[in-house]
Amino acid sequence: MQKPGFLHAKVTESAITSFFIYLLLVMVGFVSAVYLGIFLTNKQTIEDGLLTQGRWISESIIFARNWNSRYGGVYVEKGPGTESNPYLVNPDFKAADGTVYTKKNPALMVREISEMVAKEGTFDFRITSLNPVNPGNVPDSLERVALAGFAHGEKEFFARERQGDEIYFRYIAPLVFESSCLECHASGYEVGDIRGGISVRFNIGEVERALQKNLYFIVGLAILSFFSLFGIIYRLVHGLRVRLVEAEDRLHRLAVTDELTGLKNRRYLMERLRIEIKRAVRYQKPLACIMFDLDHFKRVNDSYGHEVGDRVLRTVADIAELCRRESDTLSRFGGEEFMIMLPETDEQGAAAVAERLRKQIAGNSIMLLDGRVLQITASFGVAGLRQVEGGVEQAEKDLFLRVDNALYEAKAKGRNRVITQKDNARPTTDTETFEA
Ligand code: GH3
Ligand code: MG
Ligand code: MG
Repeated sequence: MQKPGFLHAKVTESAITSFFIYLLLVMVGFVSAVYLGIFLTNKQTIEDGLLTQGRWISESIIFARNWNSRYGGVYVEKGPGTESNPYLVNPDFKAADGTVYTKKNPALMVREISEMVAKEGTFDFRITSLNPVNPGNVPDSLERVALAGFAHGEKEFFARERQGDEIYFRYIAPLVFESSCLECHASGYEVGDIRGGISVRFNIGEVERALQKNLYFIVGLAILSFFSLFGIIYRLVHGLRVRLVEAEDRLHRLAVTDELTGLKNRRYLMERLRIEIKRAVRYQKPLACIMFDLDHFKRVNDSYGHEVGDRVLRTVADIAELCRRESDTLSRFGGEEFMIMLPETDEQGAAAVAERLRKQIAGNSIMLLDGRVLQITASFGVAGLRQVEGGVEQAEKDLFLRVDNALYEAKAKGRNRVITQKDNARPTTDTETFEA
């Protein structure tokens, strides 16, 4: 993989995209966990409420039954429609005044209350047993499971049951065999045995529908919270992202720009050069470089000061910037040395560009504040890329060596001239010279 260089910056965008993906996942997890927690807690509270309701109903009935049992059954006046207990021997007696009374033992009393309650419709209950005296008390499938559990020591049983479109909460509590039961259940049980259960049932359709509505509400709330939270974070991060991208651009510009002249710096040129050499080698295209250095620049500094020296550097940079083509890369290579890379250009073409630039620089006069006029010249070395063994790195070294040699020769031959290096073998002899 290619190492990301300063020409391939823009890491901010991808970092922010991954940040948003992580944020999205964390938020989906967080919002779901919070609302699922709320929903489950709600559901549990309702469930506990239903169970309490079941317990209260069964306990109330057992209290009433125990009251009756405490008196061994109670007698009521036998009016019209008052039935006698068919399972008791002699349930009726006639008082001295002729009124007939009939005995309501616990089982009958509970059955009659159960019939009354069933008519009201809020809940219903019944007594059930694995060995019922009354065939109407045979357990259904849920009651059978509950009774089997009681035989193994379980204290209560509850479940939801769907019947058609309705849902019921079923609560079954064990019923303990007492001495009063002996009247009807003559054999098989001892006092304290579990002989059956009290089975309570009530409709929870309303509760279920409310729970369902609650679920929709919570899901809606979760979605709303998710989007509003995400929206707020997105806006915040988006603002940050814009500033980051701007800062990154600024940093990138600074990293590749020479502060004094505003030209591209050496680092930028080197990276571009490597890319262009690769392209030129692959497609067998020409590529040339011009290196130029101001003549006797030290004297400028010494005679006029550094500020004037800086101004001269900026002026030369402006002239070179005007001379270069769009596709050429001009850089301040260091000090008073500049480099131009010219893709798709052979050394002859580059030499012509260099000569034009040399003339422009030499022909330019810099007016100083005190009225003096300063003239400056530069020496130019030109070389074209050659196919050499050793790949891109070697080709680059070879190009540098030859362009440097050419510049050296231009200086040696008296400055203010262009020297084109055609061959690396004997640099000082095989050259072409533009004289000033
Ligand atoms: P030659 O013709 O052989 O190139 O002679 P020269 O005086 O130009 O070369 P030399 O290498 O001796 O001096 C280069 C000078 O460039 C020395 C340094 O003071 C000056 N210089 C380098 N960078 C800057 C800069 O940023 N601003 C100024 N004002 N001067 C600089
Ligand atoms: Mg110089
Ligand atoms: Mg120099």
